[in-house]
Amino acid sequence: MVEATVTYQCPNCAAPLAFDPGTGKFSCEYCRSEFTKEELDATETARKAEEAASEAAERAAEESEIPDNEFCSQIRTYMCSSCGAEIMADETTAATVCPYCHSYVLFSGRLSGQMKPHKVIPFQFDKAAAQEKFFAFAGKRRFVPRDFLSAEQVDKICGIYYPFWVTDADVSASMTARATRVRTWRQGDYRYTETSNYHIRRAGEIHFEDIVTPAITEEDREMLDGILPYPSDSLQEFSMPYLSGFVAKKRNIEKEAVREAVRARMTSYATTLLSSTISGYATVSPSTPRLLTKVLHWDYTLMPIWLLTYRHKGKTYTYAMNGYTGKVWGRFPVSGKKLAILGALVGIGAGILAALLKLFLFK
Ligand SMILES: [Zn+2]
Ligand SMILES: [Zn+2]
Repeated sequence: MVEATVTYQCPNCAAPLAFDPGTGKFSCEYCRSEFTKEELDATETARKAEEAASEAAERAAEESEIPDNEFCSQIRTYMCSSCGAEIMADETTAATVCPYCHSYVLFSGRLSGQMKPHKVIPFQFDKAAAQEKFFAFAGKRRFVPRDFLSAEQVDKICGIYYPFWVTDADVSASMTARATRVRTWRQGDYRYTETSNYHIRRAGEIHFEDIVTPAITEEDREMLDGILPYPSDSLQEFSMPYLSGFVAKKRNIEKEAVREAVRARMTSYATTLLSSTISGYATVSPSTPRLLTKVLHWDYTLMPIWLLTYRHKGKTYTYAMNGYTGKVWGRFPVSGKKLAILGALVGIGAGILAALLKLFLFK
């Protein structure tokens, strides 16, 4: 009986093993190792146990928190009846206007089921400074409609905290790779090529610090990518006074939902890190690294954004400014009138050029 249905991987190099009916063992044609079925099963059991421990460490990190009732009781939530945005503010800061569409927001109740933020990045400059920075940013652009830079429009800039998950982790990463070295030489009438095959194994402990993932759904991702990063050393322990005078966007993504994305980023970084230690080969094909989580830690973090939205011809334009670094993201509306004037100027320029050419041609 040949057990063809189970494919075993070589414990040393992760290559597929072949069963040899003669010896009754599984052999690896790459690293020349041989294993009995019992040895392989024991290895597999140990491997599963390691993965279960890793999974348990990740789950423990997720479940370690319960909603904070005291924090919830100090926060009010508001709903915009026009665009549906949900925001929250502390008791002393009554929110009145939606930061997205400037409609009046309605008190929709007390916050419930949310935990208190662990960390916060405080706003580094006030509204007046944010307006100044915005004028400096937008003033360089051409073709924006005149009212876009009006004092009244820019006065609508609003400070809002966005929720993020910030992850720290300690992992053991291991990776195997196949590599070749090629040597060619000539002797007499012959050219020789020698290809050597290598099996490479790399393993190491990696500490990840401050992996930042938005804790809100897709709609704002492009904007958030546009203003990141925040410097790591700007993180502070959260306390209520930081919220005073600002509104916050309500978190709608839990840790469980971003765990896979965070894991993918750690895997990608581990691949780069481990691959960078392999050099001097003609070809290298690395496998996906195996990551075992030892410690994982999540910080629910609020980060500051100055937000400005502008409606022009039925479209809403959003501008966001990193409330710590001042970096701005946004697309500009284009004024049809200003474009038309430029078009006319280009037309005149082309006319003169054509006239000059004629002059030269027919001289
Ligand atoms: Zn092997
Ligand atoms: Zn709204």
